[in-house]
Amino acid sequence: MYKIVSIPGDGIGPEVVAGAVAVLQQLSRNHGFEIVIEEHPFGGASYDLHGEMLTKATLEACKQCDAVLLGAVGGPKWESLPHEHKPEAALLKIRKELGLFANLRPAKVYDALLDASSLKADVVRGTDFLVFRELTGGIYFGQPRGFDENKGWNTMVYERYEVERIARLAFEAARKRKGKLISIDKANVLEVSQFWRNVVHELHKEFQDVELSDMYVDNAAMQIVRNPKQFDVIVTGNLFGDILSDIAGMITGSLGMLPSASIGTNHALYEPIHGSAPDIAGQNKANPIATIASVAMMFEHSFCVPEIAKEIEQAIEATLADGFRTADIAAPGEKAVSTSEMTEAIVRHLGA
Ligand code: NAD
Repeated sequence: MYKIVSIPGDGIGPEVVAGAVAVLQQLSRNHGFEIVIEEHPFGGASYDLHGEMLTKATLEACKQCDAVLLGAVGGPKWESLPHEHKPEAALLKIRKELGLFANLRPAKVYDALLDASSLKADVVRGTDFLVFRELTGGIYFGQPRGFDENKGWNTMVYERYEVERIARLAFEAARKRKGKLISIDKANVLEVSQFWRNVVHELHKEFQDVELSDMYVDNAAMQIVRNPKQFDVIVTGNLFGDILSDIAGMITGSLGMLPSASIGTNHALYEPIHGSAPDIAGQNKANPIATIASVAMMFEHSFCVPEIAKEIEQAIEATLADGFRTADIAAPGEKAVSTSEMTEAIVRHLGA
C-alpha cells in the first residue's frame, strides 16, 4: 500500500494533479496494489479556507505519508500579502520541515519533441541526464548575511555531512544509470568548493564502480548547451544547481514537461517545476506531463519500483509519438489537445 498526500494548490495545480491521480489509479488497477490518496489544501487555496498557506494539518499529513505530490502554488490574488504569508514562504517552509536536502531534476529530450528545444535537434537528440542540486545549505542559508548602505554580503558554507549525503544519493543514482557522475564546483576560486570536491572524492572510495569527474561551473553551463549528451548524473551545490538545472530544463523544450523530486532522509515531495500558470488556469489547457512524470520519479525514488517508472515514461513517449500535443508543445498551426485529453491518452497507453 502506498500512502500519498496530494496538495493540488492553485491555478493549474488541481488540473495537472488530477492527471497524475488518474495515472496512479490506472497503475493501481494494473498492478493490484492499493494507493491511498489524501488531498490537503496548500498555498492560496489554503489561505482562502484557513487564513494560512500551510496549515499544521497539511504539514502533519505530509510527514505521515510515503510521498507528497504537489501541483503548484501562488497567483495574482495572493501576491500582495506580506512576505511571510506569501506562497513562496509556504514552499520554503514545507521543504525545510520535511528536511528535503536534495532536489532532482531530470533533463530528458523526447524524440517526438526534438523541435521544441531551443537547440538544434542533432545536439539534443538522446539527451538524458539527472541534476542533483543541494537544497538546504550553501549561500542561500549561510550566515552572516546582510547589507547596509555601502556593502552587501552572504556566506557560502558547506559542512561535511551536507556534502556527503547529497553526493551519496548522486553516486547511487549514477550506479543505476550509466555509471558517470560529474561534480560541479568553482574550486579554482572558492575554498568552499575545494572542500566540496575533497569530500566528494573521499566518498568516491565507496563507489569505485562509478566514474567520477569534476567540472567548473562556468564550463558546465557551456557544456550543457554545447553537448548535453555527455552528462549522465550531475551533483552540485545550491546556487550552481539553481542556475544549471534551469538551463538543463530549458534545452528539453517546455516548462510543462519537466518533473522534479525533492528528497530528504525520511520524506520526499514530487512536483512539476512550473508554477500555477494563472494565464491558462481553469481552461483545461495545461500540460499534465510534468506532473505525471513526477509520479514516475516517485515510483523510482520513493517506492523503488523502477519498472513502473519506466512504464509511465513509455506511456508518455507513446502518447507524444501518437501526436498528442497540448498548446504549449504544439507546433504553430497544429491542433492542441486539452489537459484531460492528454491525460486520457496516457492512461490508455498504461492500460494497454
Ligand atoms: P509559470 O510556470 O506558472 O508560467 C510561465 C509560463 O509557462 C506561462 O505562460 C504558463 O502558461 C506556462 N506554463 C507553465 N506551466 C505550464 C503547463 N503545465 N502547461 C502549459 N503551459 C504552462 O510561472 P510564472 O507565470 O512566473 O508564475 C505564476 C505563479 O506561479 C506565480 O504566482 C509564481 O509565484 C508561482 N510559481 C509557483 C511555483 C511552485 O509552485 N513551485 C513555481 C514557480 C512559480
